Amino acid sequence: MSINVALDGPSGAGKSTIAKAAAQKLKYLYVDTGAMYRAVALYVLSCGKKTDNAQEVISALKNIEISLIHTDEGQRIILNGEDVSDKIRTPEISMAASQVSSIPETREFLLSLQKNLARENNVIMDGRDIGTVVLPDAQVKIFLTASCEERAKRRYKELVERGENVVYDDILRDIEQRDYNDIHREIAPLKKAEDAVEIDTTGICFEKAVSKVIWTIKDSVAKFSRREIPAVRPVKKGNKTPLWKRIAHEFLRLVAKAIYHIYLDLHFEGLENVPKDGSNIFASNHRSYTDPILISLKPKVMFSFMAKEELFKKNIFFTAVIKIFGAFPVARGKGGAEAVDMSLERLNKGYNLVIFPEGTRSRDGRVLKGKTGVALVAAMAQVPVIPVGIVFEGNIKFRRKVTVRFGKPIIPKEIGVDDCSSKKLRILRNEIMASITELVEENVNKL
Ligand code: C5P
Repeated sequence: MSINVALDGPSGAGKSTIAKAAAQKLKYLYVDTGAMYRAVALYVLSCGKKTDNAQEVISALKNIEISLIHTDEGQRIILNGEDVSDKIRTPEISMAASQVSSIPETREFLLSLQKNLARENNVIMDGRDIGTVVLPDAQVKIFLTASCEERAKRRYKELVERGENVVYDDILRDIEQRDYNDIHREIAPLKKAEDAVEIDTTGICFEKAVSKVIWTIKDSVAKFSRREIPAVRPVKKGNKTPLWKRIAHEFLRLVAKAIYHIYLDLHFEGLENVPKDGSNIFASNHRSYTDPILISLKPKVMFSFMAKEELFKKNIFFTAVIKIFGAFPVARGKGGAEAVDMSLERLNKGYNLVIFPEGTRSRDGRVLKGKTGVALVAAMAQVPVIPVGIVFEGNIKFRRKVTVRFGKPIIPKEIGVDDCSSKKLRILRNEIMASITELVEENVNKL
């Protein structure tokens, strides 16, 4: 399997020079995707067309053939048979490249070329969306940054050394404008991948930056080859909790339900999606400490959920309530293996497990990014995941409207998640988060 290094970051962070040097040392192929966008821009301009006119750019794409060749002097970019490596390095082409790159068809056009290079070679590929879009499964992801002023200074020096007549302030403005374009465009915006290592090169010399990048690559590759994919340990479904516990739980559920109905204007939707048996995961957005209780008020099934150890030290009443409702403590920093083992144990006992994939409460009700832990437990146990959306409306303290909405169960196997590889866990996590978001946003759409 080839090693793929995704190196992203804003214009002028030193990506290309650093990547070139690191690739040479590691004997990887260096792929400069910015040069591809520049070549497209050069072609469009040379035809007398406008790079900010999507239709004109799209119509030009069919006449463009781009390839990379590797010579002793490094990578050369060939546009329709002509070596344009030097022609594409002007401020005019920089801005034009930024414009053509915001057109989805241009990105689609270059994507297969970029993916093919990575499939066949060990590569360091530099760009803006390599870790997030082009090579989301890259073994190594690096996000290289530097302050705007530092980047402008470097670009200025480079252009002056090449004999160009440029003004520092223009370059700084240019860089700020391109950052803005790259970050705010709708398609494939410049964004640090969640699992990328950030390296800030402000104030550090070139050699040091290269060695930081090389060490990060070596370290990540070593970790990756050591990483074992957890085995699937399917949970046998069935209600295995003793009858007396179920009766006690049912009684307490009814008491809690009555109390909660007094204090809140509670609504439940999608109850037909709640399985009657145990050993399911309920994955919910997280608004308040009482979310696990809100979820378990209506369905007549037993729940369990993991909670931060600190919560068990809050007050006796609160601790008793959350324990009755199935909370088990997870020590901070031990979230990984221990939490997964405890979750599987609970599922094996027939409990339904509530997990909050966001990991923390959302202050404004918007659904935050989800972690892959929920997908790991679901994929290992091969149990259904029921997405839940909890929506608080208004700001009143007494009888505030709260809606708890249950979505259609997601069955890991049905969406192709039959092992715990990181790719499949991401697929499952994304599916879960999309369903939760939809359930939460149903309210917004209704307004
Ligand atoms: O990296 P470089 O400055 O050569 O890239 C030129 C332009 O191409 C950038 O401003 C950016 O808008 C675009 N680009 C991109 N995605 C990439 C690489 C470059 O959108 N993967």
